[in-house]
Amino acid sequence: MHEYSIVASLIDRVQQEADAHGGSRVYRLHLKIGELSGVEVELLKTAFDTFRERTICDGAELSIDMVAAAWACSSCDRAVARGAILRCDDCGRPARMLEGDEIILQRIEMEAPHV
Ligand SMILES: [Zn+2]
Repeated sequence: MHEYSIVASLIDRVQQEADAHGGSRVYRLHLKIGELSGVEVELLKTAFDTFRERTICDGAELSIDMVAAAWACSSCDRAVARGAILRCDDCGRPARMLEGDEIILQRIEMEAPHV
């Protein structure tokens, strides 16, 4: 399942960060998820609850910010409203997605030794 592989690579990333900073315990992960990323948030949470056991993320919480999709003209950068036709009103060029398909690990709250 898509969500399980996302969670697996997420926990890998967190482990790398923890190794790099000497972190021993992770409290919370902040994720930014685009509405068109294809991620089912509920499935992602369930996958995280399952996978985090006995990893660096054991006991950590998941905090998820959803990002609405937004488009702009690929030529003149005019904002293109979501809806039927994703095409610029001015120059008729196809729109490109600005955001809305991302899966970003924004922030990790973890316990780290004071240096
Ligand atoms: Zn345009």
